[in-house]
Amino acid sequence: MNYKETWQSVLTFLERDLSKGVIATFFGTAELAEIGEGRARILCPNRMALEQLRAHQSQLAEAFRTVCGEDHQFSFEIKPLVNTLPQDPGTLFHHAPPNGLADSYSFENFVVGISNQLAVGVARAVAEQPGALHNPFFVYSGVGLGKTHLLHAVGNSIKERIPDARIIYASAERFTTEFIRSIQSQQTAASFRRKFRSVDALLIDDVQFLASRTASQEEFFNTFNELYLAGKQIVIASDRHPAEIRDVQQRLVSRFAGGMITDIQEPDLEMRLQILRRKAADQQAQVSEEVLLSLAQKIEGSIRQLEGALHQLVAVARAQQAAPTEELLNAVVKTTMPVNPFITPSDIIGSVCRAYRITAEQLCSPKRSREVVLPRQVAAHLLHQISKASSNQIGELLGGKDHSTILHGLGKIEKQLATDEILKNQVESIRGEILGKNR
Ligand code: ADP
Ligand code: MG
Repeated sequence: MNYKETWQSVLTFLERDLSKGVIATFFGTAELAEIGEGRARILCPNRMALEQLRAHQSQLAEAFRTVCGEDHQFSFEIKPLVNTLPQDPGTLFHHAPPNGLADSYSFENFVVGISNQLAVGVARAVAEQPGALHNPFFVYSGVGLGKTHLLHAVGNSIKERIPDARIIYASAERFTTEFIRSIQSQQTAASFRRKFRSVDALLIDDVQFLASRTASQEEFFNTFNELYLAGKQIVIASDRHPAEIRDVQQRLVSRFAGGMITDIQEPDLEMRLQILRRKAADQQAQVSEEVLLSLAQKIEGSIRQLEGALHQLVAVARAQQAAPTEELLNAVVKTTMPVNPFITPSDIIGSVCRAYRITAEQLCSPKRSREVVLPRQVAAHLLHQISKASSNQIGELLGGKDHSTILHGLGKIEKQLATDEILKNQVESIRGEILGKNR
């Protein structure tokens, strides 16, 4: 179970003791940053949430005991605002070594089916002969379909055969943050360059996040060229085809097109079932074939969501010391569906910020300039519609705004949506992105 899923399961258990409102407002916006060796580190969006979590420590401890089967000591911290952007499971692993590779993602535990066989074939070839066959290798798909897993698998597989190989896995966001941090001094800038330009394989995830940050895009372009000319392998993942990435310079796009581009499609029923069998076995959970089939039928699209539902089912069954029956499955799916637990307020805020190219910090600031007021109203609107959050909760999520301010904003945006076609399209495309992750 990754951190996000562990946290979601914990939230489900908290519902026995706490009201949905309290959970959504304070716990839903917090994040499990690290867990292990009897400790859990939790990041809270603000001081108020932190105090609420502290105040409910005993319930939290109980929920963690149920989900993880052991006791934990908690530390609570206020998270830096950038962290409210959705993150890849890989980047959350505190234990990940500096090369960024998470060894739990391998080819061995990656299920191959019609929807991904081409991508896997290319990835395997790349891992066997880095730099030689398909360079760069560009893979794209919707969220939760295995891109990040595949990137790590390539890295791990190279590493296995050539232990000395220098490999870096980094999301484009990570690349950008490190780059910006590095330009503060010549020394750090030089060591950044050395680090990224001396690798044998560079695995860059979610390259669409390079958007509009020109200095870092330039740096990436130069890194790319240097590695490419030196015959080093480059693997890139993105949520869309290179030609459709806005703000990425044309010359970079044509570089991408010079190698191999493949996509991953959504898995069909047979493959979903196969994945569930595999994941149940990995968790040593005894789930009957009928229940797995029923789960595979209920949840289509994202493999992450499929995995999440299975985790939830197994966790609930273990907690109740019952078998994961069809009945329990229905209960789990039912309680988790109306307000989709796989879409957190942070997901919504992250998508809105990305669409309007502002930071979560700006969105939640007291500023009232045009650039932030509209995105804020859109965020409020989507939080209201998708998360069914109340105006009070939305106010809290958007940096402690008064609920009457939120109500006013909601009224305004709804009126605007009725007449402004362009705005309506914008909002629909953001909603599509958010829901697309969780279909
Ligand atoms: P993406 O990067 O495309 O959003 P991820 O690689 O993060 O997707 O995959 C989401 C989850 O689904 C991960 O836990 C991953 O291990 C799992 N997953 C995705 N595809 C497969 C597959 N073909 N076989 C097994 N697990 C998979
Ligand atoms: Mg990913």
